[in-house]
Amino acid sequence: MAVTLDPSDKDSGSKDEKKKHGHKLSVPELIFGDLWEYDPAPETADPRIRSRYDLFIGGRFVAPQAGEYFASINPATEETVTEIAVASAADVDSAYVAAQMAYETVWRTMPGRERGKYVYRIARLLQDRAREFAVAESIDGGKPIKESRDFDVPMAAAHFFYHAGWADKLAYVAPGRTVQPIGVVGQVIPWNFPLLMLAWKIAPAIAAGNCVVIKPAETTSATAMKFAELLQEAGLPDGVVNIVTGGGETGAALTGHPAARKIAFTGSTDVGKLIMRQLAERGTRMTMELGGKAANVVFEDSPIDQAVEGVVHGIFFNQGHVCCAGSRLLVQESIAESFINKLQQRMETLRVGNPLDKNTDIGAINSREQLDRICELVESGVAEGAKLYQPSCALPSRGFFYRPTLFTEVTQSHRIAREEIFGPVLSILTFRTMDEAIEKANNTMYGLSAGVWTDKGSRILRMAAELKAGVVWANTFNKFDPASPFGGYKESGFGREGGRQGLLDYVDLS
Ligand code: NAD
Repeated sequence: MAVTLDPSDKDSGSKDEKKKHGHKLSVPELIFGDLWEYDPAPETADPRIRSRYDLFIGGRFVAPQAGEYFASINPATEETVTEIAVASAADVDSAYVAAQMAYETVWRTMPGRERGKYVYRIARLLQDRAREFAVAESIDGGKPIKESRDFDVPMAAAHFFYHAGWADKLAYVAPGRTVQPIGVVGQVIPWNFPLLMLAWKIAPAIAAGNCVVIKPAETTSATAMKFAELLQEAGLPDGVVNIVTGGGETGAALTGHPAARKIAFTGSTDVGKLIMRQLAERGTRMTMELGGKAANVVFEDSPIDQAVEGVVHGIFFNQGHVCCAGSRLLVQESIAESFINKLQQRMETLRVGNPLDKNTDIGAINSREQLDRICELVESGVAEGAKLYQPSCALPSRGFFYRPTLFTEVTQSHRIAREEIFGPVLSILTFRTMDEAIEKANNTMYGLSAGVWTDKGSRILRMAAELKAGVVWANTFNKFDPASPFGGYKESGFGREGGRQGLLDYVDLS
């Protein structure tokens, strides 16, 4: 098999190249030849991204006090998409003042049915402008348009719809108890699902009567700022949601602010631990949605073709930039060889490229820094003795792209089996018995998600009980619903987002 660790080795996906590299041609290629070379099909909706965004505080766009901005880059072209403001500690303070004011004077006392109308209106406006938001998300973050269009944006709208329904029914979140909002909540989110993570955070918070100061990740702030425009369009009272932008320093000012009654953080385990230390003596409520190293466990009696599709989706979806990505495959030894062959054939058909093309399966890696991290971890896999496979698919000549990658002969001590790579890299281990599968799947500091593929219901039930993961999918992977709680065990964090359990994290009970 041809292997390459060099992400600059691009444009090598033609059939002739594949033959030259000793790669197998896929069945469609063998039968139909060039018929399967798709024409470009770029999405053309206008993303309506401004050339510069200020901070969104008290319902208005305001310039940062220090006058500082940074460029947000399109990772597929390395061109500047927009300029984003850097919020200082003083700007963050203004945002908390605006949130506190809105909480005391408007939002806390507004009847739930009225609050619900605003949340519902936000959902409808997101639906109305779905195409525009999807294109903006793909340009700013690098994810394929078919994902931002079919998953991120509709799911973000679904979270607002779902929580709009709760706004006037809060008394039923905990029957027999008095349910009150917490107050002003500080929220920090990562770059992998920018709009969706924002929806996961804002929708339950405001539906429950809280006001919000939120910070998107520095590489993906554009859709959050477009969302600020949408809040103005929805007529949301000033200060209920405030959006401040910037990097780690802005984040630390936000999480350490004394007015925050609760901090909701989604991001890496390392930064989550920093925040927990920062707040340890203060007693501020916290929810932490952190990293993952999910195992997808495939038994010999599983529906094989479905499982191959599920494994591919589980790790290559969104370039592997998924906290719950199935980055470890545990396959039963008796079917390992044939399963891996099928997996490699399927990988040959994946298209890596322009995120705006509707045929693209794998878009751009979010940043050069993330690409470097993926390369470093893949190199460690080779150095530690695992066997690497990469398909011969073409890579664009500009931008941050990485071939889908698979490792066999992986042991549990390899870094690629232990550390979160957050890229399209799958590590394969094998097992003989269910007990061995459980032990290997749980042999990680993380506990966010897992997948089980088998024909037997009893096996699914035992695996679901024994796997130390917040979510266990059976004969499917990466399925989400706003009514279903999501969150982790161990170093994947604590607290839940979604469903009644998620709402309970945004209310005080007495
Ligand atoms: P990150 O921790 O580097 O950054 C997350 C956010 O924290 C960013 O907005 C960043 O600016 C901010 N930040 C950085 N330093 C900070 C500090 N000292 N104080 C406060 N905020 C600070 O994570 P990332 O690279 O943006 O995202 C990837 C990580 O997010 C992965 O580990 C992934 O597993 C995790 N994630 C988890 C979930 C989940 O639901 N569990 C969902 C999505 C992503």
